[in-house]
Amino acid sequence: MDARQYILSPREAYVAEQQWRVVKKSVDARQRELKVHLTVLTDEQGKPISKDAPIPLYEPPVFQDVHQAKRSAVIIGAGPAGLFAALTLLEHGIKPVIYERGKEVSERKKDIALLNRNEGLNPESNYCFGEGGAGTFSDGKLFSRSKKRGNMQRVMELFHYFGAPDTVLYEAHAHIGSDKLPGIIRAMREKIIECGGEIHFETCVTSLKNFKFQISNFKFPIILAIGHSAHDTYRMLAAEGVALETKGFAMGVRAEHPQALINRLMYHSTNVEYVGNASYSLVTQVDGRGVYSFCMCPGGHIVPAGSEAGSCVVNGMSASHRNSPYANSGIVVQINPEDIPGDDPLRGLAFQEELERLAFEHGGPQAQAPGQRLKDFVEGRLSKDLPSCSYLPGIVSSRLDQWLPAHIGKRLQHGFKDFDRKYTGYLTNEAVIVGVESRSSSAVRIPRDPESLESVNTPGLYPCGEGAGYAGGITSSALDGINAALKIAEMSESRNNHTIITQ
Ligand SMILES: Cc1cc2nc3c(=O)[nH]c(=O)nc-3n(C[C@H](O)[C@H](O)[C@H](O)COP(=O)(O)OP(=O)(O)OC[C@H]3O[C@@H](n4cnc5c(N)ncnc54)[C@H](O)[C@@H]3O)c2cc1C
Repeated sequence: MDARQYILSPREAYVAEQQWRVVKKSVDARQRELKVHLTVLTDEQGKPISKDAPIPLYEPPVFQDVHQAKRSAVIIGAGPAGLFAALTLLEHGIKPVIYERGKEVSERKKDIALLNRNEGLNPESNYCFGEGGAGTFSDGKLFSRSKKRGNMQRVMELFHYFGAPDTVLYEAHAHIGSDKLPGIIRAMREKIIECGGEIHFETCVTSLKNFKFQISNFKFPIILAIGHSAHDTYRMLAAEGVALETKGFAMGVRAEHPQALINRLMYHSTNVEYVGNASYSLVTQVDGRGVYSFCMCPGGHIVPAGSEAGSCVVNGMSASHRNSPYANSGIVVQINPEDIPGDDPLRGLAFQEELERLAFEHGGPQAQAPGQRLKDFVEGRLSKDLPSCSYLPGIVSSRLDQWLPAHIGKRLQHGFKDFDRKYTGYLTNEAVIVGVESRSSSAVRIPRDPESLESVNTPGLYPCGEGAGYAGGITSSALDGINAALKIAEMSESRNNHTIITQ
């Protein structure tokens, strides 16, 4: 089948999308007038094929019944990496046994509601921990289409299979939204259980030695998909001798503007009826380090994304309609291992924790986060008042320019000026920054063999996803989980290895 690209006005593209089989879509905001690039399937005469044509969108997955399977593998963590690993094991007839420290998604929702009402943090059930991991109440942007690491399109297809909208199959910047993600995650769990897999919620793995195993050779597969927020689990791994190393990461603040202002700056218009609210992606270099926007959420909310008492961590998300009046984005500074003195492989964690503690101290008495108007931050003065902000627990005025470490704060100040040179009006006191955005990426790597994907010193342990330091974001973590499961399937098939694991 052929395909043809059209360059259309937003309204024309909207109409075409309702009628034709679209395979690619992106918004082009480089000119003053917005254009939408749409690629559609065409027939032999070059005519666009109808959206309803009986052509399968993709080959559906086939999950095997593993109730009686002889092969099984443990998965620690039910985030995107763990869940996609489990689904892949099922495709290969291997039984996944998942341990997840947090609660199942509907119970988790209640804890998140309490957190947003300032009624306390449950350290085991929050924006980071629980069914679906950090991906469940995330923004659900499915960005990475890099072909380098494997079949990214398959990740999109699996999301679609479990209930994501058709757009995830063709939009360059696909988005699911935090209102839709829980249902998709629940559908994945139901499939895993229906096929004979196991999921044990509220079960934190506190030692790898808890796993007694019977094996036909020295290997037993454990997929370690713990995300990057389980600092206690990293410390457990260090204590049990699993190789760990420090890696570069990024920290900063979340900046929030009125969405209408961002629409004007990016789209030169406040009329976004057919394209939705505008996002942005900004990057600059200050003093040898990158300063860049991260996880931009148009029409979104800033959320409390910490998992430890006495710390303040923020992140961002949006619902599928992306229709709040706010546009928020992490603005972070690259931190290299040499920026943190010492040689402890976990020193990046201690650095994150210190900044999160500082943010907590400078926030309000409950979970209010410290905030400062953007121009006040750049020009170094206290904000006498703060604009309205989407962060539900509330923000309090604080001199972030004074207490952020200079190598982060000064770079952010320069970075914001650079961004304003690119988009005049970005640096405005209508915007507010909220601290701190400290968990944008993992500060630790669990090194693994590039071929076997096993830990370099613990055979049978497959570190994957964001916490292993080999992925960042939902899609690349999911893909990393798939790759770990494929390795286990390959290994067990090649050795006809019947592995039985019991706890
Ligand atoms: C608010 C927010 C918004 C985000 N928005 C986006 C976005 O729009 N797009 C995007 O690509 N990314 C986004 N992210 C990042 C994304 O969610 C993560 O990159 C992704 O979830 C990482 O997947 P993972 O499976 O590797 O780890 P995680 O999702 O962190 O999952 C790890 C799981 O392991 C569990 N666990 C940890 N330790 C243990 C233990 N010892 N025993 C048992 N279980 C354990 C945790 O409870 C958790 O459920 C967002 C993150 C947040 C917090």
